[in-house]
Amino acid sequence: MADDKKLTTRAEDFSAWYNEVIMRAELADYSPVRGCMVIRPNGYAIWEQMQRALDDMFKDHGVQNAYFPLLIPQSFLSKEAEHVEGFAPELAVVTHGGGKELEEPLVIRPTSETIIYAMYAKWIQSYRDLPMLMNQWANVVRWEMRTRLFLRTTEFLWQEGHTAHTTEAEAEEFTLRILKTYRTFAEEWMAMPVITGRKTDSERFAGALRTYSIEGLMQDNKALQAGTSHNLGQNFAKAFDVTFQDDKGDLKHVWNTSWGVSTRLVGALVMTHGDDNGLITPPRLAQYQAVVVPIYKSDAERATVLDAAHQVMRELKTGGIRAHLDAREGIKPGAKYYEWEGRGVPFRLEVGPRDVAAGQVMLARRTGGKKTPFMTQGLVHTLRLEMDAMQQDLLEAARTRREQHSLRGVTKASFLDFLERDGGFAYGGWCGDGKCEADIKDQTKATIRCLPDEEFRSLEAPARCMWCDRPATTEAVWARAY
Ligand SMILES: [Zn+2]
Repeated sequence: MADDKKLTTRAEDFSAWYNEVIMRAELADYSPVRGCMVIRPNGYAIWEQMQRALDDMFKDHGVQNAYFPLLIPQSFLSKEAEHVEGFAPELAVVTHGGGKELEEPLVIRPTSETIIYAMYAKWIQSYRDLPMLMNQWANVVRWEMRTRLFLRTTEFLWQEGHTAHTTEAEAEEFTLRILKTYRTFAEEWMAMPVITGRKTDSERFAGALRTYSIEGLMQDNKALQAGTSHNLGQNFAKAFDVTFQDDKGDLKHVWNTSWGVSTRLVGALVMTHGDDNGLITPPRLAQYQAVVVPIYKSDAERATVLDAAHQVMRELKTGGIRAHLDAREGIKPGAKYYEWEGRGVPFRLEVGPRDVAAGQVMLARRTGGKKTPFMTQGLVHTLRLEMDAMQQDLLEAARTRREQHSLRGVTKASFLDFLERDGGFAYGGWCGDGKCEADIKDQTKATIRCLPDEEFRSLEAPARCMWCDRPATTEAVWARAY
């Protein structure tokens, strides 16, 4: 059972608060292996809900799931120069197997472009084999020095999509379609508003032509990259000789995309919605959308109340609502409330003797407000409306918070002042020079999160680079980030 010590507040120490929320909700724990974490059932249940939703969305695009090996011949990574350079410092390498030194070391996948495109070379011959659209749900290992639960761990779970197309335009269209899918998922399921846009060359995926991302703003006003989609161009196709015969019989290289989101999203969910009492899970992703707590004193009350609670459970389950009955003996209702609150369950339904008599339940919302009685008759319908409302309210609250911590049209002075105070998303002009970008990062720790898509750009395009005052080539969004 979770202890009942009060959490460190977000205002006191956001980072301590984050770790305590995860511990109290029993989402994850530190592992005996440094840099790795154990995802506990409550955390894994949220990940499973995320997986289900995303998996359905990918399949709607015609993507199929497959599985590729964990171990990749080291030479594969060297085939794409930028790729190996980008990942070399993070690789875990297997040099021995079965008691013998291996002829060729094997790397534990940090990502699977190389092994997947080596297989695509075998499977793709003709334009009729294209597009090839696959995804795998897997673990990857990237040796990390500084780790944080869910946000940065040496091993993590993710999905990686890999596609091959006949033309650059088709690959670009698919890259952007997935970016849009990630945004839809973030907003409609996680209730986390994101901005979308292209990464600068310095933040581009190693080996990609163009990288796009979704970026959320956490409650400490630091940005979190929550998903990326890459147009890989023909870089990997050339390295692995993935070719096809077009309809005129000419041999051409395919155009690839890859894209992924990871268990980092669970961390994003905690930091977007959690409050000083613990986790808040948006109803669409909650393991339990409602928990039913029976309240009684005498044995006679107990029988009636439990009977009614079971009846409520049957109705909720029939109505497709994920519900849990907390009928544990020897734990006071107040202690149960506290525990489920820390775990972020959106709704609590209390059933006491007076409620049974009145044919009602008392409904308490995790997001606060007065408890309200609801008739058990038609409860599924009312609860569905409540869930939709909470889902929407969480998104709107997060959007409002983000906009309050966004500043447009920054100058160097207002940018520095903005970071000095609370920080957040700073929109301003950029000259397009990588040296200028690096200079800003060195001096302020803020990075260009993305060159925002049209929808997120300011009404008036900035004329000058906010930092060096040369003419701006584009608008950029800066923030300190995880
Ligand atoms: Zn500049």
